[in-house]
Amino acid sequence: MNKAICPLCKSNQSQYCFSERDYQLLACNTCDLFFIHPYPGEVHERVKEYDYDDLEILNPERHYQAEVQLQKMYFGLIAQELDGVNSILDVGCGTGHFLERLNTYPNLYRVGIELNKSRAAIARQKAGCDIFQIPIEEFEPKKIFDVITMINVLSHISDFDRLFGKLRAILAPGGKLILKVGEMKKNVEKGDVFDWQIPDHLHFLGLNTIDCICQKFNFKVHKHQRVPLSQDMFSPVYFKSPGRSKVRNAIKSLLAYTPLALPAIAKIYDMRTGQRTYSSFVVLKIEA
Ligand SMILES: [Zn+2]
Repeated sequence: MNKAICPLCKSNQSQYCFSERDYQLLACNTCDLFFIHPYPGEVHERVKEYDYDDLEILNPERHYQAEVQLQKMYFGLIAQELDGVNSILDVGCGTGHFLERLNTYPNLYRVGIELNKSRAAIARQKAGCDIFQIPIEEFEPKKIFDVITMINVLSHISDFDRLFGKLRAILAPGGKLILKVGEMKKNVEKGDVFDWQIPDHLHFLGLNTIDCICQKFNFKVHKHQRVPLSQDMFSPVYFKSPGRSKVRNAIKSLLAYTPLALPAIAKIYDMRTGQRTYSSFVVLKIEA
């Protein structure tokens, strides 16, 4: 038993999963959240100061190309939720491709938040709308939003109470919060994912965590679609999107264009891991 406090439900009952880069990954026995220990307080400063050369973080143009590939998979799913919507906020909008795609919606008020300076600059160019470089928790918008999207962003935000308190405050009655998140089963193993990117990722959701979030912050699940992570990880779209390593990029694009290679790898991965990890599309609603 570990004395660490769960950042979501504040329980001190958790179990050890594995370690990466001097951090432990613990699973909360109450809300199922997986969280790193020690758990950092503030990460915003670090994100702002990412140095693309030193840290080999994806350069912004490559980041944009990766977003283009990602939205080939998810834009249709998100678009289904946008009927009658007048305003949208994309939290962690990166280089702005999602907001750019939304410019075909007439009269849709679009806003992005991106802490990284170079990504925010590209997002302003590509999307042609306001992109604020301010943590969501401190954001004071002039209007509230019908939809807020957080695509692969939740795992980077440390303070659940401040985050969800703010989201509730700036969502319109009946508004939707759209999340793309990773979920996993308790028996997950370190080898299931090539690089967990800890401590960039502070936490991952367990299978019951979304329900606990809804209970705690008064949301209702409108849609919860779980696909095995292998479908994401070994999709042609993902394999065509550039990452940080040139060698891995070359292998990835070779595999992406080799017929049946990816489905075969996905199958082997699922057989080995028994489908313990998921990529999930979640729509939460607040009561009208
Ligand atoms: Zn918990």
